[in-house]
Amino acid sequence: MNDVVLKPGKEKSLLRRHPWVYATAVAQAAGRPQAGDTVRVVDSRGNFLAWGAYSPDSQIRVRCWTFREDEPVDAAWMAARVADAVARRAALAGRTDAVRLVFGEADALPGFVADRYAGQLVVQFLAAGVERWREALVDALVAATGCADVYERSDAAAREREGLAPRTGVLRGAQPPAEVEIVEDGVRYGVDVVHGHKTGFYLDQRESRRRVAELAALAGPGATVLNCFSYTGGFSLAAMRAGAARAVSVDSSADALAMAARNAARNGLTEAAFECRVSKVAEAQKALAAEGQLFDIVVLDPPKFAPSVHHVDKAARAYKDVNLKGMKLVKPGGYLLTFSCSGAISVDLFQKIVAGAAVDARQDFVLLERLAAGIDHPMRMTHPEGEYLKGLLLQRV
Ligand code: SAH
Repeated sequence: MNDVVLKPGKEKSLLRRHPWVYATAVAQAAGRPQAGDTVRVVDSRGNFLAWGAYSPDSQIRVRCWTFREDEPVDAAWMAARVADAVARRAALAGRTDAVRLVFGEADALPGFVADRYAGQLVVQFLAAGVERWREALVDALVAATGCADVYERSDAAAREREGLAPRTGVLRGAQPPAEVEIVEDGVRYGVDVVHGHKTGFYLDQRESRRRVAELAALAGPGATVLNCFSYTGGFSLAAMRAGAARAVSVDSSADALAMAARNAARNGLTEAAFECRVSKVAEAQKALAAEGQLFDIVVLDPPKFAPSVHHVDKAARAYKDVNLKGMKLVKPGGYLLTFSCSGAISVDLFQKIVAGAAVDARQDFVLLERLAAGIDHPMRMTHPEGEYLKGLLLQRV
């Protein structure tokens, strides 16, 4: 039996059903478990705590599957978790054909991500446990969705920390087309699942795209939008489809903006109204300020500035700077939607940073709403680390 025995007192977090066992909590691993092996985690007296997957090369030495001793961890168990996860997303079916079907720890499958883009599935195996069960998980996903085409994008940084080499390619069915077309809330987007960021699209911003569309409609004809860190233009397209007169999308990636322009065409938008600027956001903000431009809606959705807790101070300065400059581009009465996807930056800290930026920008904003990912990115209550995306909807007063 592969027993992972914890040091005395180190069982506390597992008793609270937190799913991770850190290397520093382990007294010994009996039976020489290999990467991905199912292990029985026990306290220092030998009492059962959880079944989990062993990761010898990770600081997170065990990721727990279940806290029930009588639950056999096998292919049928994996299939049941996948089916449960897919069923939990049913409420989104009427709105979109692009959904995160499985989201790691939140769905009891630590390290497994599965996204659906119309008929195309894209998966990531980001930990040794789910890597071991890859065939069973993909079979279960195909069975639960009826989709035949599955592409792997296990090229995220998280995999490296697990001691796993990157893996990408077709797992089932055909090579994905250069652009898979999805429709979300009536807007068409092209998704490059092979080369795009993450699995191709920022599914986690669905609710905020909808909010931007509502605000654009509220602002009425003539509404203008500045979309900083636009990627393939999600917020710009949502606003334009809702009647905004002009959107400026800024991103340093020419490829992302080329897709944004194709997306504009897909939705029948004219090029003149849908402006794309390949630029660093800081430079574009400076240029727009110099031009005296102000917008009804400004969106700031930067990449993860703090990859870990060690980067929080530096990231806080970067968030403050981008927000300070962004605030100066908001019309009086206009809206700012500002985001952080750094897990290491808490909602409270982010709010403080943004408040500090407003003071330095000498502008008054009110907080209308806190923004977050949708129901396909749930957070397990015992695993707060799963919540990473936070946003604030502010209005300039
Ligand atoms: N808002 C997007 C997702 C943004 S992801 C959406 O909803 O789809 C972050 C984006 O910022 C990426 O597209 C990346 O190319 C871009 N980026 C990163 N650093 C940048 C910088 N300094 N200036 C401009 N764009 C940047």
